[in-house]
Amino acid sequence: MVGTGILEFCQRFPDEEACLNWIFEKKFGGHTPCPLCDSFGRWTKVKGTKKFQHACHKQISLLAGTAFYRSNIPLSACFYAMLLFANSSSGVRTSFLRKQLGLGTKSAHRLSNCIRLHMSAWDRPTQLGGPGKLVEVDEVLLRHLRKPGVPNLDSALVMGIACEEQVLCGIVPDRKRETLHRNIKKFVAPDSIVVTDDWVAYRKLADLGFRHITVNHSQGYFNTEGYSTGKIDSYWAVVRRAMRGYHQVSQYNLWLFIAEIECRYNMRHSTESIFDTLVSHWPSVIGDDLEALRLKYDWS
Ligand SMILES: [Zn+2]
Repeated sequence: MVGTGILEFCQRFPDEEACLNWIFEKKFGGHTPCPLCDSFGRWTKVKGTKKFQHACHKQISLLAGTAFYRSNIPLSACFYAMLLFANSSSGVRTSFLRKQLGLGTKSAHRLSNCIRLHMSAWDRPTQLGGPGKLVEVDEVLLRHLRKPGVPNLDSALVMGIACEEQVLCGIVPDRKRETLHRNIKKFVAPDSIVVTDDWVAYRKLADLGFRHITVNHSQGYFNTEGYSTGKIDSYWAVVRRAMRGYHQVSQYNLWLFIAEIECRYNMRHSTESIFDTLVSHWPSVIGDDLEALRLKYDWS
């Protein structure tokens, strides 16, 4: 994995201006015309704001619609926080971020969720697998979730699909056949070979057109033909380690944590550093876009 180091980071993003110019370059730098007059031409930065003004006097707010819009935390701090999220192997705790950036607990908490939201919008595949490819499917129970107004901690089921080096995960309400089959049909490409444990609800996957291989875990890690669910199992270990670090997560925000862990995991072998990917795309995460993002990780 290629990573961006702190020395390189300090050289590239020494101050607020450098971060703003970077985002401007990525969004409009000579390749996207002005949204008002549809022409290229000179842009100038509006002093003391995060806005740029075009030759036609149209002003654009660089961060409008993104996860960092209206944040009063300096952009350079947001960038540094993104570097931490990109380079960490099991997530960044709010207490750590608070100390690193000199923020209050609430601001650090809010910034963490902004970064998770930004990460949730990464260009994730819509399906995994394909003709003859092995796709592992499993579910995991995550504990220690807070629900508003409920004193006892709750838990949630997360379903995962792994193929080659990629995973897709979503929160599911139960382990019933209807739920599991519906999501396999949606997220596993046709003609894949689906490998699962021997949970009864996975039976009859052949009805959906998949070749189905079962690994009976009470009889060992591999089945008699040498198949295993090792890929998804090792991903669950990554998820559990990160969630353990986060202690308690609110049920409402669980999807953001699922997205953060999945985004980092899927990009781990990418040729571009995760940080570079994160600061190169500034997707909209408000309104309908926000709901669409949430539904990507909510498979109920
Ligand atoms: Zn213009």
